[in-house]
Amino acid sequence: MSRFDDVHFLTSAAAPTQFPADVGAEVAFAGRSNAGKSSAINAITQRKGLARISKTPGRTRLVNFFELMPMKRLVDLPGYGYAKVRAAEREHWPELTEALQHRQSLRGLFVIVDARRGITAGDEGLFQWAQAPLKVHVLLSKCDKLTRNEAGTVMRTASQRLHGRASAQLFSAQDGTGVKEAQDVLTGWLS
Ligand code: GDP
Repeated sequence: MSRFDDVHFLTSAAAPTQFPADVGAEVAFAGRSNAGKSSAINAITQRKGLARISKTPGRTRLVNFFELMPMKRLVDLPGYGYAKVRAAEREHWPELTEALQHRQSLRGLFVIVDARRGITAGDEGLFQWAQAPLKVHVLLSKCDKLTRNEAGTVMRTASQRLHGRASAQLFSAQDGTGVKEAQDVLTGWLS
């Protein structure tokens, strides 16, 4: 049985005034475009197609809120590092992320990183954004594409780079590696 039986789309926000009420607890998900964020959200919530809502035209550049259970939300941030994002759309970013950062309910951030690519300089801004007391957890995604040896190296490299700033784990939406571990982290933060 899914741990998030009643998960559903709540709202999309183009501006902080459209954010839902700042009560309860929420965890944000971020990642470079194509890193596997949508697949990770679907696997963790066990709702195929849930995150597709965030990819529908008009919503890809918005902050999308899903309710996992009463007063507990998942916040899907727009993918970054995508050259085609228009400058006009990028301008809203600081305002949105700044407002999100100040929400009482925000507990932490999941960062989805393609394991073959590893953590890059482009991801660093996120770690700075999510400063204590926010927690950060990195999903090294698509690890089904790696050999066991490669996966071990990826984990070690990520841990060195993170240097205690965040926890990290291997993850695959495709073969289910690390899904339970990620669910445990998420529910732990939200409780
Ligand atoms: P997003 O842009 O970060 O939301 O990424 P998506 O979830 O849409 O995934 C981008 C691409 O990576 C798609 O072609 C997915 O099928 C693929 N993908 C996502 N997760 C996995 C995974 O765990 N394993 C493999 N092999 N491919 C994946």
